[in-house]
Amino acid sequence: MNATTASSAGSRQALGPDAEVVVVGGGHAGAAVVAQLRSQGFAGELVLISAENGLPYHRPPLSKKALLEGADMASMSLRPESWYVTHRVTRHVCATVTGIDRAARRVHLQSASAPESMTYDALILATGSAPRAWTDPVTGGDALGLADGVHVLRDFDDAVALRAALLACDHLVIVGGGYIGLEVAATARALGCEVCIVELAPRILQRVAPEATARLLRQLHQSHGVQIFEGAQVVVLQREGKKISSVRIQTAEGPLRELQADLLLAGIGAVPRDALAKACGLEVGNGIVVNAHGQTEDPAIWALGDVARHRDQSIRIESVGNANHQAALVAAALMARPEPLPLVPWFWSDQYGGRLQIAGLWQPADRWVERQEGAQGRSIWSYQGPRLVAVDAWQAPGAYVLGKKWLETGQYPPSEWLANQDHNLKDWVPQALSGVAS
Ligand code: FAD
Repeated sequence: MNATTASSAGSRQALGPDAEVVVVGGGHAGAAVVAQLRSQGFAGELVLISAENGLPYHRPPLSKKALLEGADMASMSLRPESWYVTHRVTRHVCATVTGIDRAARRVHLQSASAPESMTYDALILATGSAPRAWTDPVTGGDALGLADGVHVLRDFDDAVALRAALLACDHLVIVGGGYIGLEVAATARALGCEVCIVELAPRILQRVAPEATARLLRQLHQSHGVQIFEGAQVVVLQREGKKISSVRIQTAEGPLRELQADLLLAGIGAVPRDALAKACGLEVGNGIVVNAHGQTEDPAIWALGDVARHRDQSIRIESVGNANHQAALVAAALMARPEPLPLVPWFWSDQYGGRLQIAGLWQPADRWVERQEGAQGRSIWSYQGPRLVAVDAWQAPGAYVLGKKWLETGQYPPSEWLANQDHNLKDWVPQALSGVAS
């Protein structure tokens, strides 16, 4: 073991060639941080521990193409096996880190093949998030084990099981009208299932998108025959033998309704997998709390991706773009390299062959301006006072690209300019309007 660990990002002392870095979690963030460390010149020992089997893979297709066409691990892998060999990354799969001994700088593992424990100079926690448990309305227990036919979607194995169930399904009920629920609804319709979405909040996408985006997607789903119940909740889950047969919901209007269901997907969000950090005394609270460099209060422990929360922010960002950006940040801090430019968060969602692209972060109090983009497209621009904070672009890649650039440069038109449908987005010239928006 070598003591040349970067003791804090501020000290800017790079990891030496004898240092050992252990990364827990082989998802987007874990895979990205090992790649970043190597590309930024780290020459020491690099270990990637994953509770899952196989190579790190793209998670977004699990609710999209892979669910529709069948999950194929080979085409979903982020990098081939040979990359890890060439870049001297030791991978342990089906290996779960069960404890962290901070004083000894050692992690403990449960695995059939990996060592029982290993030491580190820098430990990077990239444990991601897990589906929020949906509790049975009657017993209050986790509904997952309650009946056959109740699913969640997070991992490759979940997608394989869900697809098999969808192929045999007539009636799917999705609890939760977030992006994953909506994407699965679109896929399920393409596979021939009847679909109902039951959303507890007054509207779908309540936490993540403006009403205009929700309206657009609601209409899209309804035009494809999906029934959406907003402000509604499942009150009873009915079974025939062990198998789910229907759910009774309390509708927003009051009356109870019975929905046939031979399959139910609980898609009610995700919670950070921060138990390891909590158990070893690190600060957690809606994720592992980190500073602007991704470092926890322990200078030898870092966290990134879905599991990490910046100490000045109340929300965690769950996206591939964020995982990749934080990987670059953490690697730069560990290698005493210049940091990447700040990220404008971005996200996408594919539904019924169309694509929604989002840049920036929308907040519930924002006002928005909506525009038609060509025959099929729409763009929705969210403002906080005079400040542009997000663009949601449906079938409008040009608006997304411009909006992202505007957010990155901080130069954008005022909302009144965008509200004029006669204005062409490409015609806005920053210099001409400088000082109008800031
Ligand atoms: P994960 O990818 O979840 O990886 C964490 C890994 O850590 C997992 O393999 C887990 O098994 C492992 N692990 C956890 N605990 C331990 C332990 N103790 N020991 C060892 N290993 C452990 N984002 C987008 O930007 N666009 C999309 O369209 C999009 N679609 C999505 C669709 C689905 C169905 C899902 C589930 C997510 C989607 N996301 C999308 C979100 C995106 O996939 C996540 O933000 C991203 O995967 C986060 O990467 P991560 O490495 O932090 O976590």
